[in-house]
Amino acid sequence: MSKQTPPEQLRGIALLRDPALNKGTAFTEAERDALGLRGLLPTQVITQEAQIERILENLRRQPDPLEKYVALEGLHNRNEALFFRVIADYPDEMVPIIYTPTVGLACQKFGHIYQRPRGMFITAADRGRMAQVLRNWPYRDVSIIVVSDGERILGLGDLGASGMGIPIGKLSLYTACAGIPPTQTLPVLLDVGTNNPTLLDDPLYQGLKQRRISGAEYDAVIEEFIAATQEVFPGVLVQFEDFANHNAFRLLAKYRERICTFNDDIQGTAAVALAGLLSALRVTGGRLIDQKVLFLGAGEAATGISDLIVSAMRAQGLSEAEARQRCWLVDSQGLVVAERTGLAGHKQPYAHAHPMVAKFPDAVDALRPTAIIGVAAVGGTFTEPVLRSMAQFNQRPIVFALSNPTSKSECTAQEAYRWTEGRALFASGSPFDPVDYEGQRFVPRQGNNSYIFPGVGLGAIASKARHVTDAMFLAAAEALAATVSEADLAQGSLYPPLIAVREVSAQIGAAVANVAYTQGLAGAPEQKDLLGYVRSRMYDPRYKSFV
Ligand code: NAD
Repeated sequence: MSKQTPPEQLRGIALLRDPALNKGTAFTEAERDALGLRGLLPTQVITQEAQIERILENLRRQPDPLEKYVALEGLHNRNEALFFRVIADYPDEMVPIIYTPTVGLACQKFGHIYQRPRGMFITAADRGRMAQVLRNWPYRDVSIIVVSDGERILGLGDLGASGMGIPIGKLSLYTACAGIPPTQTLPVLLDVGTNNPTLLDDPLYQGLKQRRISGAEYDAVIEEFIAATQEVFPGVLVQFEDFANHNAFRLLAKYRERICTFNDDIQGTAAVALAGLLSALRVTGGRLIDQKVLFLGAGEAATGISDLIVSAMRAQGLSEAEARQRCWLVDSQGLVVAERTGLAGHKQPYAHAHPMVAKFPDAVDALRPTAIIGVAAVGGTFTEPVLRSMAQFNQRPIVFALSNPTSKSECTAQEAYRWTEGRALFASGSPFDPVDYEGQRFVPRQGNNSYIFPGVGLGAIASKARHVTDAMFLAAAEALAATVSEADLAQGSLYPPLIAVREVSAQIGAAVANVAYTQGLAGAPEQKDLLGYVRSRMYDPRYKSFV
């Protein structure tokens, strides 16, 4: 056990009440004597492993996912190390509770299940004093802020200040999956009002009781907030999360060259999807530049993925125009084509010269793509005819049903395998159980953003990157794909098991940091053993000794 020293004054009950240091019943006999804990704890000293068993026993007894979420947040508030150890050791079971899908429910009920404050609420009313407000945060070594304005929480729309569950959950994943020390993480909810009438009428709603500000007033709030983050925590990485389309793209464009920032909904999703595509190509033996990808959906995920595929294809020799020509989008109006007017800016680069096609199945037949990627949040849209067409055009059709939650998935894993005679290379946004088809067992895995963003953050922080670039996301996608074993591929898994995520994050962290050094964007001194250096910075949730 490595050693740590609590601040001099932290002894006795104060130590037990500090979640960053508390070990509860795991304080040893010597620690109980040295730290004034004798008598304040039950007699038996319990190991962290036994505590984990107790947590699991209690969690598994909870009747529904929201109760599990509340119980886990309770643990987060009491004993951080144990909380992060439980998530790191049981990611398949815990990530769906602290993040999607359960976190969505938790946000909807935020004011009703509230226990105690976590993170910071900065509001439109704080204009002129945001830096001063940020200085109230108790830790000075913050290296990542996740910020949301609550306008587009998952697929649930405007949840205003109740969206705070998202930055909290995301930063828990940074710590659990990539070992970013908890004190270096700061969740922020930028409260600019809400247009959600149910929340405005709810006496337990905790945000500003006003409609959203917009236009120049909104931009001024964001600008002051960003400036304040850099003043109070110089160089801090600011990750935008769950902003509405109309703000997400332009805020990313506005700030990505100014500070260290990225948008996981756009760029993290892109890297995880590209990694899945690279894994699929290891199976088909095809080249990336020969793929034709058709998206159902044309929002943050679809255009983010397309943009990164274009970057990857350009790195392999295609021109930008040639690469764009290989990505096609279908939105709620049909195929995105040049003749359509009034297209949002992020769709325009993919508006190709082609006759209008109103329906997705017809677009599949017209374009004969090698891959279809569903990110429209409309369930059941990869129908039997669509999948049979894909299986007719391709020996190994690539089918990613990425929409969440499960009810919005474009098809189930079973449908994907059955309707392509077991030939689909399938990945999903929501988890699916293994599928037995014609004597073969397929183990589909989730294209979970948790494989990517924690490692990207880790690499950016370790290298003190001034910006987060497309090249870093490309490197992250390649590093993730490289962790997929032949055995994974043989059973249809395009991603590694989630239990491997800490090692995956270390690999991605090193790859991202390497790009930061190569691109001249690193503020940290060069390291001989980058992977070892990145690993050495990772927070370990196993208990340390105090004596
Ligand atoms: P978004 O709101 O930015 O985009 C949704 C897009 O779908 C919009 O372009 C909209 O026009 C289009 N759309 C809506 N109805 C449609 C219809 N009937 N037919 C065709 N298109 C339609 O949302 P987003 O951030 O892009 O996320 C979309 C989905 O992808 C969500 O379900 C989200 O959970 C999922 N997602 C999954 C992952 C992952 O698996 N790693 C990551 C990010 C997002």
